[in-house]
Amino acid sequence: MPLTDKFGRQITDLRISVTDRCNFRCVYCRSADPENHVAGHELLRWDEFERLARILVGMGIRKVRVTGGEPLVREGVEDFIARLKEIGVADLSMTTNGHLLAERCERLVAAGLDRINISLDSLDPARFEQVTRTKSFGKVMAGIDAAQASRLRPVKVNAVLVRGLNDGEVEAFAEFARDRDLIMRFIEYMPLDADRHWSRDLVVTAAEVKRRIEARSPLVPIAHEPSETARKYKFADGRGEIGLVAPVSQPFCGHCSRIRLTADGKLRTCLFSKDDHDLKYLLRGGSSDDEIAGAIRDVVAEKEEGHRINEPDFRPPSRTMVFIGG
Ligand code: SAM
Ligand code: SF4
Repeated sequence: MPLTDKFGRQITDLRISVTDRCNFRCVYCRSADPENHVAGHELLRWDEFERLARILVGMGIRKVRVTGGEPLVREGVEDFIARLKEIGVADLSMTTNGHLLAERCERLVAAGLDRINISLDSLDPARFEQVTRTKSFGKVMAGIDAAQASRLRPVKVNAVLVRGLNDGEVEAFAEFARDRDLIMRFIEYMPLDADRHWSRDLVVTAAEVKRRIEARSPLVPIAHEPSETARKYKFADGRGEIGLVAPVSQPFCGHCSRIRLTADGKLRTCLFSKDDHDLKYLLRGGSSDDEIAGAIRDVVAEKEEGHRINEPDFRPPSRTMVFIGG
């Protein structure tokens, strides 16, 4: 029986955060405090992730995205990707900051990764450093090169725009998509940063991004699945593609098909869930696969109708992005 919630949405996508650690400290995500992570023993082991993934694939999950924190900092992620492929995940992707990608790309492809999203919040090395608090611009660009030279397709590049920080680069990113023939995705800044600096006036809306790009190069809409997060466009006159991800200004909760598993084994039915559900307790407490599947079904049935970012009483969840998995 397919995994569905009480609103009739079918759940087919799973995001697995394999670690809450990261080698970057992006200002819109992590705190500057280096000690801000869950202790190592709290994380699920690879065999525990694998067991949950097997159960979930048996319940209709078809797409899995491996994320974090930074997934490439956890030793063994390639073997885990290979296990996911063996389990029968039809669409297997990863989101990475790209720092370690050039050296790991071949192994990820060999393991069976299908596609990749790489974060790049500035095309200017100095501003990149300001956003990520690293000097890794060159390594990330090398990671994008490696991904484009590999079998991974499509290659998507993600930028979170923050007003006053990198919003001046919309047009440059659009040119980058055309030059490099890749998919450039603009993601609205969400209230999930560790330092709680988010405010509505820091959000650069998808409508603004579209207007600015179209002022230079006409865009043609591309059909997309209702459950996809991005509204997609190609350039009327050339290569490259744009994706606009607008969780704040145009929420897409009505067609959401996603659930999330955190690095410490909590099931979350929304990025903005107030509560998460402890599967590690069941895994380590001797529950059978059927019992775990039953617990997952009950949790998913109660998936919230939508996030409440635009409601007057909105409060951000206590877990921030790096502890949930993006
Ligand atoms: N470390 C990897 C990376 O940066 O690609 C994977 C994890 S990261 C949490 C996943 C995605 O979430 C990235 O594209 C990142 O830019 C995005 N993200 C993080 N904090 C965000 C926020 N406050 N609002 C919107 N997107 C955010
Ligand atoms: Fe790390 Fe990704 Fe968060 Fe940046 S967005 S701090 S790379 S987890």
